[in-house]
Amino acid sequence: MRILISNDDGYFSPGIEALAAVAREFGEVTVVAPERDRSGASNSLTLDRPLSVRSAANGFLYVNGTPTDCVHLAVTGLLEHRPDLVLSGINDGANMGDDTIYSGTVAAATEGYLLGLPSIAFSLERRGYKHLDVAVDFARQVIERWVRRPLEGPVLLNVNIPSRDAETVRGLQVTRLGRRHHAEQVVRDRNPRGDVIWWIGPAAGAREAGPGTDFHAVEQGWVSITPLDIDLTCNRQIPNVEGWVAAK
Ligand code: MN
Repeated sequence: MRILISNDDGYFSPGIEALAAVAREFGEVTVVAPERDRSGASNSLTLDRPLSVRSAANGFLYVNGTPTDCVHLAVTGLLEHRPDLVLSGINDGANMGDDTIYSGTVAAATEGYLLGLPSIAFSLERRGYKHLDVAVDFARQVIERWVRRPLEGPVLLNVNIPSRDAETVRGLQVTRLGRRHHAEQVVRDRNPRGDVIWWIGPAAGAREAGPGTDFHAVEQGWVSITPLDIDLTCNRQIPNVEGWVAAK
């Protein structure tokens, strides 16, 4: 089995090293990842300049582009063979609910999915890589399950692992995405030269976080697995918009 791995934290991150190590237990691994932290890059492609691919001492390939660039480049020309599986992560911090829209970790997996490959994104709840060993363990379980019994149809899975000791993790739970509150306010500040600058504020807390959501599962000590799709159509609005368009 050929496995392509990317992330959004950069090719040097402990999370991607750990994921590559565990993936090697299952097959031939190629890492193509951004040269710097591109968290929050979402699904952006670099179209205004060419991209370069360089090789790190450990064999990881790194690109001066986004997570989406990395997977796109790898699958559409850089790799000699089409991978059988695309993995992303292990991200430094959760990607649940609305985070999935902004996440570069999820975006790397999404690009694999859009190119017709089964893809899985892994994120560890709290930043700082404490309990990375637990995340690795569950990544192994998910990959193992996949190898034994691949899911049918196009597959994009978003996996979030709680930051806690292995003994207290309760297992895998299939979830749907929750929702966050609207974003916190931007932070207004001044740079050392006195100019006004703005920082995007932190993500807000969970709003829709009841049973069945990824937020709830992870909070309760479960590893959440949310199958994702990329059809943005709002089906419940179609009749309304039809009526609105037809009205005189
Ligand atoms: Mn990240």
